[in-house]
Amino acid sequence: MSMRRAVCPGSFDPIHKGHIEIIARATALFDEVIVAVSTNYAKKYRFDEDERIGIARQTLSSLAGITVQPMGDGLLAEYCREVGANAIVKGLRNATDYQYEAPMAAMNRHLTGVETVFLLADNQYTHVSSTLIKEVHSLGGDIADYVPRAVLSRLNSSR
Ligand code: ADP
Repeated sequence: MSMRRAVCPGSFDPIHKGHIEIIARATALFDEVIVAVSTNYAKKYRFDEDERIGIARQTLSSLAGITVQPMGDGLLAEYCREVGANAIVKGLRNATDYQYEAPMAAMNRHLTGVETVFLLADNQYTHVSSTLIKEVHSLGGDIADYVPRAVLSRLNSSR
């Protein structure tokens, strides 16, 4: 039987517990989950690509069946074909996420046949995004409930 392999894509700048919860649930559905760290080379990040990958690897190391890989700024559908994944897993927080994601899912299926599987975000993380975490932390707010310890210490040391 062939391996069921999924890709969880994102910029993960930085990874937070909302991401980790979705990735963990994806491992229950697929034999192998590739966390694909994307980089848009025209965009500014708080953590560079190596740091985002390193933090994600460290944070996800206790979960089986996961690899963390760079995916650059190419087409996600092509990346999935290259790594032999027939599914993309995404978390949905709200209707705005859905409206943004639905056309991309349809286009990706058109391009290569890759399916997108949406998992509803857990209630405790529907308001959590990397952008909000960085903003609240930079203003002195406590975001410890939403990020792994490795992220908190890196945010503190680069403040
Ligand atoms: P982007 O792709 O906009 O850079 P991120 O890298 O932050 O977004 O997130 C990657 C993916 O993780 C998103 O496509 C989204 O599906 C999912 N995600 C982000 N935040 C959450 C959350 N709080 N709960 C569940 N899923 C989330």
